[in-house]
Amino acid sequence: MNREKSSGGSEPAFVFSPETRQHNIDRMNKETFDVLVIGGGITGAGIARDASMRGFKTALIEKGDFGAGTSSRSSKLVHGGFRYLKQLQFRMVREALVERKILMDLAPHMVYPIECLLPIYRGSIAKASQVHIGMRLYDILASGRNIGRYRMVSAEELTKMEPQYRHEGLRKAAEYYDCWADDFRLVMATIQSAAQNGANIANYMKAIDIIEEKGRVAGVLAVDQLTGGEVPVRSRVVANATGPWSDDVRRQLLDAKDQKLRLTKGVHLIVSTEVLPIQHAFMQFAVKDGRPIFAIPWRNFVLLGTTDTDFVGDADRFDVERSDVDYLLESFNYYFPRTNLTDSHIISTFGGLRPLIFEDGKAASKVSREYQIFEKPENFFSIIGGKLTTYRKMAQKMVDRLARRLAGSFGLNARDAQCITDRVPLFGGDFQNYEEFRREWTSRLVSEHSLESETATHFVETYGTRIPALVGMIKETPDGADRIHPDLPYVWGELTYTVNHEMAMTLDDFLVRRTHIFSLAKGQGLDVHEEVADRMGERLGWSADEKTHQIDQYKSSIWLTRHFRDSI
Ligand code: FAD
Repeated sequence: MNREKSSGGSEPAFVFSPETRQHNIDRMNKETFDVLVIGGGITGAGIARDASMRGFKTALIEKGDFGAGTSSRSSKLVHGGFRYLKQLQFRMVREALVERKILMDLAPHMVYPIECLLPIYRGSIAKASQVHIGMRLYDILASGRNIGRYRMVSAEELTKMEPQYRHEGLRKAAEYYDCWADDFRLVMATIQSAAQNGANIANYMKAIDIIEEKGRVAGVLAVDQLTGGEVPVRSRVVANATGPWSDDVRRQLLDAKDQKLRLTKGVHLIVSTEVLPIQHAFMQFAVKDGRPIFAIPWRNFVLLGTTDTDFVGDADRFDVERSDVDYLLESFNYYFPRTNLTDSHIISTFGGLRPLIFEDGKAASKVSREYQIFEKPENFFSIIGGKLTTYRKMAQKMVDRLARRLAGSFGLNARDAQCITDRVPLFGGDFQNYEEFRREWTSRLVSEHSLESETATHFVETYGTRIPALVGMIKETPDGADRIHPDLPYVWGELTYTVNHEMAMTLDDFLVRRTHIFSLAKGQGLDVHEEVADRMGERLGWSADEKTHQIDQYKSSIWLTRHFRDSI
């Protein structure tokens, strides 16, 4: 039940709360679904949205929080992938460029263009002529969906534009455009869109076994990670969209023996723009091995990434190691010689595992970013590979396959056979005119609701047309318009909003993903986490022991990304 009466009147308001979660789990226990999606990352969210929009009775379970796997740990580029042109992957780049434009239209507040610079140095891996050809091709492949055409910039102009860049050996640079999006927010908006279309969704529900009837897959047994209760979830078809865990899930549920995945590890560092004052996204090649790296300004911060090394181990215990950090510091200190970056400048680190298709004998960074869908056994589908950027298209192809099976084996035809996910705005993205909305609300939030202008901008870019519901929550919350952390624009009203409208269930959910206090606050929020736990615990009924557990869990998340330092 995602639509309930709002407290103030007869308009139905969207609710996606802990109570919605319990209601959805009760339904899962009793009903049979057409489509069950395992995994609430961007891929699973996209499948649930598409399937529910076509009229299939859809459920989704996620073992942790939405997006807590790879989909909140990416480099956040919504891009064609200029570098894949070198590998002649034209079809994939074209598809990603088309999707880039679609996502800009579906959520213009969240997916926005960034200006990128690719400097060319004497002896550079990318020669000027190759960059010229590549950029032209990038524009052609985006044809009709370009953000802006590339241009070449002289060394002189570049050093004026970006004085921090290395000057020595600089010949020229290509200036071009791609897009950027807060990946977790994209997952959340997609999940909420699915819920709005009737999908029955719960986080903290882990698939642990398969249900078979008459020798056929008929659903999965799930365990509620918050209560320990087991719930059989029956469904005609199952879509395994568990990203880096998809081989593990097939092994655990189906006893599969084959390897379909190759996991590679990607780590990022976050520093302040006070330390590294750059205006454009900087694209380059690592000093050590020539693989692509970048520095992307994000509000008052810069994101530095990324590594790409094979990963073997427990995907649930992802951590950042000394060698990951040294690899990035070495390159960025070479390309930004005036900064002299050290551990002391790193506010936080984060990273994830790329769920790539297994291809024997290829270097990690050369493995294709294509995706594959396969059905094995009947009624159990898996999707592997892909990118954040192409998730909508991946979901469309998966739901096409599911729809064929549902029609063929169950005589069940979609109410709306046509996929319309490229036309219907994402949750919070339904603007008449985004620029007008932006102007109106950045001013109204300040003048009528006494919010700071930095908070107003953050609201528009994060919640879009959901702002009125958020304003309602701010009024209901004690000190609702006050900052949670002095350095960042988040306010206490967002805690109430994200619990009630975004199913935030744990301290990590709020501090790591709903806000980025974990990544962006100096000290990673260890000066405010107790008060957040107090307030969240009051709403969610945590005992003293549960509150301690939540705090320990948060400290453990910090430790995994900080233990590379000599002193934590
Ligand atoms: P995930 O997000 O990992 O979701 C899978 C989910 O399944 C998880 O939330 C997990 O908890 C859940 N799950 C696992 N087991 C179970 C179970 N038994 N029961 C229930 N749930 C379960 N792409 C881009 O387009 N642009 C980029 O800039 C970019 N940068 C990247 C940088 C890095 C470092 C990495 C690692 C990837 C990057 N990508 C990028 C790729 C992109 O992030 C991934 O392709 C995408 O996020 C994968 O999404 P997913 O939903 O398949 O997997």
